[in-house]
Amino acid sequence: MKKVLLVAAASAALTAQAGPIEEMVGQVSQQRIEANIRKLVSFGTRNSLSDPDNPTRGVGAARRWILEEMKRCGSDRLQVAFDEHLVESGVRVPKPTKFVNVVATLPGTQAESRDRVYVVSGHYDSMPSSPVDPDRDAPGANDDASGTAVSIELACVMSKYKFDATLVFMTVAGEEQGLLGATGYAKAARAKNVNIAGMITNDIVGNSRAPDGTVDRSRLRLFAQGVPAVKTLPDDVVAALRTSGENDLPTRQLARRIQEAATQYVKDFKVEVIWRRDRFLRGGDHFPFLEEGYPAVRFTEPVEDWRHQHQDVRMQDGVQFGDLPEFVDFGYVANVARVNAAALASLALAPSVPREVEMENLRLENDTTIRWQPNPEPDVAGYRIVWRETTAATWQFTKDIGNVTRFTLPGISKDNYTFGLVAYDKDGNVSVAAYPKPYRPAAGAPLPVLR
Ligand SMILES: [Zn+2]
Repeated sequence: MKKVLLVAAASAALTAQAGPIEEMVGQVSQQRIEANIRKLVSFGTRNSLSDPDNPTRGVGAARRWILEEMKRCGSDRLQVAFDEHLVESGVRVPKPTKFVNVVATLPGTQAESRDRVYVVSGHYDSMPSSPVDPDRDAPGANDDASGTAVSIELACVMSKYKFDATLVFMTVAGEEQGLLGATGYAKAARAKNVNIAGMITNDIVGNSRAPDGTVDRSRLRLFAQGVPAVKTLPDDVVAALRTSGENDLPTRQLARRIQEAATQYVKDFKVEVIWRRDRFLRGGDHFPFLEEGYPAVRFTEPVEDWRHQHQDVRMQDGVQFGDLPEFVDFGYVANVARVNAAALASLALAPSVPREVEMENLRLENDTTIRWQPNPEPDVAGYRIVWRETTAATWQFTKDIGNVTRFTLPGISKDNYTFGLVAYDKDGNVSVAAYPKPYRPAAGAPLPVLR
């Protein structure tokens, strides 16, 4: 009887209703993305220090257009608003400046999930060779009208659907001034203790041609931090490190789930997870979210060409410099948007990460027993244990175990594998994985004898 139930749960999970996500991915429009990137370029510069009041040129004109475009394109459930942060001064802020994000929120429809938020962001500001030059042309077609167009496109397509959790489609200012728009948003979110379960920044996601001329339209890099480089680590990180969970902290679990969704829904396009916070010694708008303790990752094209980033538009020795639309591959950006749509839909339709997941360690044994608290969502259908060899990057083995809160895998030793637990709902939507903490017997109880 028990065996039959297990098989039933497994097949329910395998016949996941992929319908709405496939439909959403199919609605991403390359034409609209191209039109929006060209429109963003048409503001001449979007430098955060440019005149905010000019009706046709500069950062103010650009953000007013983004706001109107998201309102026009999105459904009436999409809440679009400016989000302002005043910065008095800084390395790249010569005088007090308002950094204004455009934030489009699609509230979740499930009471138990509405407070769980996923944020996708691109920065709409741009810079010429100097980040503090407010006047010179700074088309910023790839850096980062491409990521901005992804946020706008996702708002258009996804706001027509309903999700359990809340989605925020954001475009931010001040990235080139030191991640200031994203910092303002992340700090305010932490101050209100908003449950941001995942943040994705799309930054420089539009060029498929390497400086040597080779073209690769099939790959996208996803940067995912491991252990944060801070002197004092949070307790939960230290607890995970004691059992070598350094590759299973929330940001890498998020990256795994995003990669799975991309593989499932976007064919002939590969998300390559890179176990690094960002490109070598470089940064982006996911940093302030990481610093506030939120899981956050970055998408970037496979090979950057710096002749077309942060450059005054000019001809030099027969080479065209500048971040111009002619160096953007709009079909490639559309695939990036499809990956984001698949990932965000998968996350926001799925249950939350299982809670209080613990690895029992009551005696020395070669079995593995995991226990956890039930998920709060009413549509949770069951749980799945996932595991892999300790040197593997992604899950190699899975077992559906039905709607229980404790399970033993006989003969599979926790000494030799890394485990995770996911929850799935009745439609087969799968949560991000939880890393089991060691279960500690009550204070005073005898500890297992270790030899
Ligand atoms: Zn950028």
